[in-house]
Formats: sequence, structure tokens, C-alpha cells
Amino acid sequence: MTESTCLNCDTSEQERPLITLKFQKTELYICPQCLPVLIHKPYQLAEKLPGFVPSENPPPDDH
Ligand SMILES: [Zn+2]
Repeated sequence: MTESTCLNCDTSEQERPLITLKFQKTELYICPQCLPVLIHKPYQLAEKLPGFVPSENPPPDDH
């Protein structure tokens, strides 16, 4: 599989332009729609990125 997909929502590069990220020597992709999540709610992406420890903690009742 050579097609890149958004790390958060799995949207493919065929559907939307993706932004390339680098994390721990790995290239990742995120779509513009999910970029604000990475910026403002990074903890929502923690489970998608093994090794990523967001500086911000999730709210107590966030599911
Ligand atoms: Zn996305």
C-alpha cells in the first residue's frame, strides 16, 4: 500500500491534500481538517502515535 492516509481520520491523499509530519524518524500525514486537532487537542492523537506524549492532558471526562 503506497497511498498515504491521514493519521487521524484515514482520509487518503486522493481525497484531500495531506500535510507531511515527521515524528521519531517516521513520516506521517495529516489532513487540514485534522491539523487543528494536533495543535489544540494533541492528546486525542496520542493513541494513534505510539511514543507521543502530549504536553496537554485530556479533560477528565473526555471519551
Ligand atoms: Zn484527517
